[in-house]
Amino acid sequence: DTALYAAKRAGRGRFEYYSDVMDTKARESELRRAVAQDELVVYFQPAVALATGELRAVEALVRWNHPVRGLLGPGEFIELAEETGAVVPLGAWVLRAACREAAGWRTGIPGAGPLRLAVNLSPKQVAQADLVTTVEAILTETGFPPDRLTLEITESVILQPDPLTISRLQALRDLGIQLAVDDFGTGYSALSYLRRLPVTMLKIDRSFVTGIADDPEARSVCEAVVHLGEAFKMNVVAEGIETADQATALIDMGCVIGQGFFFHRPLPPDEARALVKQQFAALT
Ligand code: C2E
Ligand code: MG
Ligand code: MG
Ligand code: MG
Repeated sequence: DTALYAAKRAGRGRFEYYSDVMDTKARESELRRAVAQDELVVYFQPAVALATGELRAVEALVRWNHPVRGLLGPGEFIELAEETGAVVPLGAWVLRAACREAAGWRTGIPGAGPLRLAVNLSPKQVAQADLVTTVEAILTETGFPPDRLTLEITESVILQPDPLTISRLQALRDLGIQLAVDDFGTGYSALSYLRRLPVTMLKIDRSFVTGIADDPEARSVCEAVVHLGEAFKMNVVAEGIETADQATALIDMGCVIGQGFFFHRPLPPDEARALVKQQFAALT
C-alpha cells in the first residue's frame, strides 16, 4: 500500500497522519483543493553554462505549502497526483504560475530575454487530448514566448509512443516549444523511438552524474548520452551536479549545460528573480 509505504519512509509522526486520518481518496481531494486554493508554490532551479556558470535556464519545481505539514517536496505528493489524475490540474497550475513569474522577469529585467524556462510534464498530462490547447492558452494568457519554453517529459512517455502522443508532441514543437527527455538513461528508451520523436534535449539523470568520478559504468553512460546528443543534434543537460570534479568531468566530455546543488539549489520565486536580475541587468 503506497500510503503506508510513504508514511513509513516519512517517519513516525507522519505514519499516524496517514494511517489514522487519511486514505488515498481523502489525500487526493486534499491535494486537489490545495491546487484550487493556490497552496502550491513554484521553486526555480537554475541551469548554467558549465564553463562559466552563466545562467541559461530555470526549471520550475513544484512545492506544496501545506497548512499543517509545512513545505512539502514533490516526492511527497507527485506520485499520488499521477495515480489519481490530480496531476493534470496541478501541472496546468504549475505551468501557468511558472510562465506568469518568468514573463514578469522578462518585462521587468530587459536583459533577461534569452533566459529559458523548463517545466515538467507528467505522463498523464501528455495523454490528455487537450494538452496542446491548454499549453497554448496558458502561453497566451501569461504572454510567455513559446520559443523560450522547454517541456520536460519522462522516458516512460517515449516507451509508448502511440501516434496520438507523437502528434501532440509535434504540435508543441510546431508552436516553437523545445522538448526534453528528463532523467535520461534510467529507463529503457529504445534509440529508434528517440530518433523518431520530436525531442530536442536529453537530461542526463543525476544517478549517473553522481558516479561520474569513481564509477566507470556511470561515467560511460554520461559519455554515451553526450555522444547521443551530438549524433541526434539534441542539447544535453547534466543534472544533479554536486561537486567541482563532476562539473569538470562533464566539461571534458563536451557537456555544455548543467544543473545541480554545486551551482544553485531550487530557489523560491523572489530569490530566483533576484538572481536573474543580478545576472542579466548588467547586459542591458
Ligand atoms: P526532476 O525534474 O528530475 O528535477 C530534479 C530534481 O533533483 C529536483 O528535485 C531537484 O531539487 C533535485 N536536484 C537538483 N540538483 C540536485 C543535486 O545536485 N543533488 C541532489 N541530490 N538533488 C538535486 P525535486 O524538486 O524534489 O523534484 C523531484 C521530481 O519531482 C522532479 O525531478 C520531477 O520529476 C518531479 N516534479 C517536480 N515538479 C514537478 C511538476 O511541476 N510537475 C511534475 N509532473 N513533476 C514535477
Ligand atoms: Mg525535470
Ligand atoms: Mg530530471
Ligand atoms: Mg531527476
